Amino acid sequence: MGRRFTAPRLVVASHNAGKVREIADLLAAFAIDIVSAAELNLPEPDETGDSFIANAVLKAEAAVQGCGLPALADDSGIAVAALDDAPGIYSARWAGPERDFHAAMALVQEKLGQNPNRRAYFISVLALAWPNGHTECFEGRVHGEMIWPPRGEDGFGYDPMFLPDGYTQTFGEMAYDEKQRISHRAVAFQKLIDGCFRAP
Ligand code: IMP
Repeated sequence: MGRRFTAPRLVVASHNAGKVREIADLLAAFAIDIVSAAELNLPEPDETGDSFIANAVLKAEAAVQGCGLPALADDSGIAVAALDDAPGIYSARWAGPERDFHAAMALVQEKLGQNPNRRAYFISVLALAWPNGHTECFEGRVHGEMIWPPRGEDGFGYDPMFLPDGYTQTFGEMAYDEKQRISHRAVAFQKLIDGCFRAP
């Protein structure tokens, strides 16, 4: 059981408008005034941590220090078992400055080659930081296989290459609502809501 969140305002420590909207939607039932780090002109810290948790905490705590409000950050990526869990925290960086995820998926395939082990998981870590220095983290994972060639035009990032266990469609083929229901982010959010937002 996490610490209950009772503040009236929360900063979402992201400059990605899509992520901010998604998080605001997920927390809509809790009557919290959500404001983004971009709206407050907070700088984006460098993701220098060596784990998803470290990076999520670093982003949340930087936002708290920048504005004095509680802050929520997430860090996510894909870990491929046969590549020693790469690209992992470097998932966004494998797409280069152009954010070319077709190239990033091709790189995963090139490194996997004929390896029959295609196991992988998406991971999302949420960090909720309070101004008094208290921080809580919640992690969600969804396991599956990296397929080749990629399938589907929906989603983003590595979605077209990821076939979740128990499904016949990749994340890139799935309807938005279905992915939102089963994704690593959904799992982490459910834990956050149960731990900090739902009435006891
Ligand atoms: P972050 O914004 O630093 O957390 O970077 C996350 C990166 O991981 C994204 O740029 C994507 O490459 C990848 N990623 C995370 N979640 C997903 C997802 O749900 N689908 C596809 N790719 C994802």
